[in-house]
Amino acid sequence: MSNIDQLRNKIDSITLEMLALLKERTEIAKQIGELKKNSGLNVTDESREEQLRKEVSEFCKSAGLDESLGKKFLNFLLNESIRVQSEGKQTHLTVFLKAKSLEQQGKKIIHMEVGEPDFAPPKIVRDALGEAFDKGFVKYGPAAGMPQLRAALAQYASKEFGALVKPENILVSPGARFSIYLAISTLLNPGDEMIVIEPAWPAYRDCAINAGVKVRTIPTTLESKWEPTVSQIEKTINESTKMIVLNYPNNPTGKILPPKLQEEIIRIAEKNDLYVLSDEIYSAYSFSEWRSVLSYNYKKSIVTQSFSKSHAMTGFRIGYTIADPKIIEKMVKLQALCMTNVAEPVQYAALKALDVDITPNAKSMRSKIDTVIHEAKKMDLEFVAPDGAMYLFAKVNKQGFDGIEFSNMLLDHGVAVAPGDGFGNYKGFIRISACQDEKKLMDGMKILDEVLNKSK
Ligand code: PMP
Repeated sequence: MSNIDQLRNKIDSITLEMLALLKERTEIAKQIGELKKNSGLNVTDESREEQLRKEVSEFCKSAGLDESLGKKFLNFLLNESIRVQSEGKQTHLTVFLKAKSLEQQGKKIIHMEVGEPDFAPPKIVRDALGEAFDKGFVKYGPAAGMPQLRAALAQYASKEFGALVKPENILVSPGARFSIYLAISTLLNPGDEMIVIEPAWPAYRDCAINAGVKVRTIPTTLESKWEPTVSQIEKTINESTKMIVLNYPNNPTGKILPPKLQEEIIRIAEKNDLYVLSDEIYSAYSFSEWRSVLSYNYKKSIVTQSFSKSHAMTGFRIGYTIADPKIIEKMVKLQALCMTNVAEPVQYAALKALDVDITPNAKSMRSKIDTVIHEAKKMDLEFVAPDGAMYLFAKVNKQGFDGIEFSNMLLDHGVAVAPGDGFGNYKGFIRISACQDEKKLMDGMKILDEVLNKSK
């Protein structure tokens, strides 16, 4: 056998040995996951990860292995552990699917688990779909979006978000979810780290794991009004950190950061050359002072927006990204690869929807949220009154409940809410969505009160 063949044989057997070890490691991670579940522990344990990271870095130094390669490999392993330990996690989608199957069996369910406005899209949108057909907007188009829509969105964003936005700053995407996926997949590399402030919408983490990116969590608490501290953020940043995700008004808490704190976070991001991915899809539902991240003119900011919530157009699947043209270009390439472009009739409908006054939607959402807050106060739930968005995030473990157990029990009584566990380590919480008519909200909250106070 030649030298090269011998060496190749060795490489082959080392690769297979590594895979066997990976299998063994994954089995152990699953067992740890079960133990964590049984004792109510969170899947992610930052201090434990940090300890392992130190060991890996010391090993790399002593073995003469590139430390960054070691850390990349570790991040892959950590993500794999998180993935297997998160299987079967109960989120708002799990509850939604259970609720749907109960409905099929003839049970009446009040849906307070999903984030979908109950009001209809603007009427103009219906005509726009027919018009799009007549005008021939039924073909393939540019991947970044129809020029007319990009221009109109640039104008709209300049007016609404306090920055000069040009068409080349815009990417039209099938919903903010896809914008977020594109931003994380194209701007970050396997082994990079991304900061997420929890509680958070779970897709940020899922997109990162899908891209081999390691999520560093900053947990916030009800007691600290869901505000991260500057020192928490500074301590989490290291040489692998490449992005911080912001989402204000927040899903699930409805929090809007105090202006000074938000400004400080942007300053820290700038100092550390981080991307700021700011998901601002709830901005139309801001009930106190809100400022777009765009207004800081930071080159590495990526803002995601959508027609889903503001215009009640969830089913149309249309949103957009606002960022530096170089960032947009990278995202456009992946969008072109995945889906060519957003359907032209849908883009045309969005173009028309931009002219609609959406203040009635904001008024309606505010009134729904106020109803939920009013009822929640009466039943002694613990929460911070939301500054915006469409939800109330409340503590139920004061009454001795676990959020998952409580939402399952509530579902048996005909009300669906989202367990807090889907948004991070918030087992004692539930997210109540205000996306229902006021009568249903009142009925739902009454049932919630009855179930909650049974245990007293
Ligand atoms: N971001 C947040 C915070 C959300 O809550 C959601 C949907 N619930 C999305 C993005 C996705 O929005 P879209 O429908 O535009 O994809």
